[in-house]
Amino acid sequence: MKVDVLIIGAGGGAYPAAFRLADSGKIVLMADPKGVLGGNCLYLGCIPSKTVRELIEINDRSGRLLGSKNHADFRSIQKHKDDVQQLRFDQHEQERSVFKNLKFLKGNVTFTGSNSADVSTEDGTVPVEFDHAIIATGTVVSRISFPGSDLCITSDDIFSFGTVFREIPDKMVIVGGGYIALEVAGMFHKLGTEVHLFVRTETVLRNVDRDLVKIAYPLITPFRVHLNTTIRNVAGKRGKLTVNYTENGEDLSMQAGEVLLAVGRKGVVPEGIDLTGVKYSSKGIIEVSDTMQTSVPHIFATGDITGRTPYFHAAVRESLVAANNIIGGTVDRMDFINVPVSIFTYPPVSYIGILRNEAKEKGMDIVETSYAMSGDARAQMYEEQDGEIRLFFQRKTGRIVGGWVVGLDAPELINEIGTAVFNSLTAKDIARFPDQHPTTNEGVSKAARAWKESR
Ligand code: ADP
Repeated sequence: MKVDVLIIGAGGGAYPAAFRLADSGKIVLMADPKGVLGGNCLYLGCIPSKTVRELIEINDRSGRLLGSKNHADFRSIQKHKDDVQQLRFDQHEQERSVFKNLKFLKGNVTFTGSNSADVSTEDGTVPVEFDHAIIATGTVVSRISFPGSDLCITSDDIFSFGTVFREIPDKMVIVGGGYIALEVAGMFHKLGTEVHLFVRTETVLRNVDRDLVKIAYPLITPFRVHLNTTIRNVAGKRGKLTVNYTENGEDLSMQAGEVLLAVGRKGVVPEGIDLTGVKYSSKGIIEVSDTMQTSVPHIFATGDITGRTPYFHAAVRESLVAANNIIGGTVDRMDFINVPVSIFTYPPVSYIGILRNEAKEKGMDIVETSYAMSGDARAQMYEEQDGEIRLFFQRKTGRIVGGWVVGLDAPELINEIGTAVFNSLTAKDIARFPDQHPTTNEGVSKAARAWKESR
């Protein structure tokens, strides 16, 4: 097969480019062994985990606010999760079928040269020649190895499409201090599981602004956190495990139904990549410039494999940048800085741009303004009044450079703040916008209006 563009993977870094390239008339081949579009995000990541999170939250709210005695039925939650995934597989398939010049194969891609590859499908190997390629092969969970580590589960076991994981464990050890560990810990805590989070270091969310973590930490960890703790081994059988661990130098042991490892993800570099000359690191990260080109200009890489901003929404934008540059020469560039990030804990935590500590490190003269969720009408309706909205402005120009939100609707609010940051709006611009009442967005313009007082 001879194509203009070969796209490897079918996740957020892949299919938006496939659609745009096909729309421009290019002959495109996209391949993924999953046989469906959506990548890891839809198959086992963001969509299933956020579906489960939302249903647990509904259950929690109806219990707290209405005295509903119904305990979340985890089987129903998991069934709804599968239904949402299926709905989106079907939707993407429908979107794809519109393009006659876009072929999708269920199979794994191996490079055989800098302009050639093999796709191994159930019906045999399909050799492909291409002018351009986009590598969007994403990441997989990293596993650490210790005696009994094969008895441990990962987030894939809980969230994969059609998973057999349908029972809530009585007690669960979660190993990790990143966003996946915290999100999963929060969910099972609300489901009634006794959760123990084992964090190897002295803090969680190591790459997040320290002051933001300080505000968020007591709110998002209502379960037991064991800092400076490493797991030594696990024995027994799933449902009845003995976990031996070292906490602050002391050797201890506990029983748990499940042990979940959430210790990071690593890049998946396609086989044969050395034949292309594309540079990549030992951690499976493919270096790209802001045009999304690798060290070999006709081969692009997008999404998590680039190790830059590992979020679906960033992958989508990167995918479109790659497509635009394949169609039109170097016409588009990725802004890796102004990408919103959310941690979907209870309450959620979101941020974008330059925050307090980075501003300090850069020697920037910053004005901060804030809005407390305690006075927010919608937060009062839900009795979820913890947290704040905080905006960071350049003192001289009044232009916003970043913001964070801890509390109700943080992932939604960061989109409005993010649009302001992306477009370098001033405090006055933001303050003049009549954010709707009664939504938590009111807090964004209210925080901007506090600019004058804080100056
Ligand atoms: P993104 O970073 O683009 O959002 P994801 O991690 O969501 O990516 O998805 C990456 C996809 O790439 C997965 O669905 C995975 O099956 C697929 N993939 C990984 N390696 C290969 C390969 N060698 N050939 C084809 N597809 C691959």
